[in-house]
Amino acid sequence: VPYVEGKGWGKGVLKAYGPIEMDPAASVLHYGQAIFEGFKAYKQPDGSIASFRPDANSRRFNASAARLAMPELPEEIFIGAAKALISQDKAWVPGAVGESLYMRPLMIATEAALGVRPSNEYLFVLLASPSGAYFPAGVKPVTVWISDDYVRAAPGGTGFAKCAGNYAASLVAQRQAKEEGCDQVVWLDAIQREYIEEMGGMNIFFVYQEKGETVVVTPELTGTLLPGITRDSLLQLAREQGFRAEERKISVAEWKSAIAEGRMTEAFACGTAAVITPVGHVKSRRGNWDINKGETGPVAAKLREALLNLQHGLAPDTHGWMTKIV
Ligand code: PMP
Repeated sequence: VPYVEGKGWGKGVLKAYGPIEMDPAASVLHYGQAIFEGFKAYKQPDGSIASFRPDANSRRFNASAARLAMPELPEEIFIGAAKALISQDKAWVPGAVGESLYMRPLMIATEAALGVRPSNEYLFVLLASPSGAYFPAGVKPVTVWISDDYVRAAPGGTGFAKCAGNYAASLVAQRQAKEEGCDQVVWLDAIQREYIEEMGGMNIFFVYQEKGETVVVTPELTGTLLPGITRDSLLQLAREQGFRAEERKISVAEWKSAIAEGRMTEAFACGTAAVITPVGHVKSRRGNWDINKGETGPVAAKLREALLNLQHGLAPDTHGWMTKIV
């Protein structure tokens, strides 16, 4: 779907998957005006196809657009593109629990202009790909690397937006994590380099035992981490499951001492792609530690099942989170 300043959004076209042509001077290639989203479509027991909170993805897309001086995209176009695509062939959406059609909405600046200013022309694209279960052999806890050498996002920057540049800047840290034998990066705040923010493509939760009560904690939204839709959903689901759920600052020092003192029993990452992924081992310049002996804990397992059941239509949608696509 093309956009021209002064004219607005034009008519979309449905095309077989393939390359798109662009001017070499297109703004996106030089100044990185590119935002995206990720959401999934799940086959429901009645044969229909539904998505999990696509309205929230649409709102976050527009928050990203605003930060990058890009135009707002109406929700009808955002969700309509998914409808148009899946209507072609419902069989593109695989059916088993854990499987889905992953959809990647993208907006790029296409105007050929070498001046540093917001583009006057944009293209919205939705591409899709069937996605198998992230853990076909059962959920496997990951090992994470706390990034002391690189920062993902600073106050006033683009951390809360889902823009290409955030990921470009994170790749070198991801490579370092791999070299250290880790699967994922844990990002810290830019100022004190002490407070945990999120992971490369997921938010993070910690599980504490406090006076006989199970407390689920996730870093508060400071503007420098992505407001994950899975994160928001899990805060609600955790409360419904009888856990206390908190959003607050949590430091690396606290993480380390809570593990050493046995007050923290689990940590897990969450996001659209991996749903819930337990964190089994932590490595950093400040020491290494294991969580729950490197095994999946009961809180992560329970929340994961609750979320998957909702998404696949196997539990009643009491929150109105499922949107029928076709
Ligand atoms: N943080 C980052 C940096 C991400 O890329 C993602 C994936 N969109 C998330 C968190 C999790 O967000 P969501 O639950 O909306 O997928």
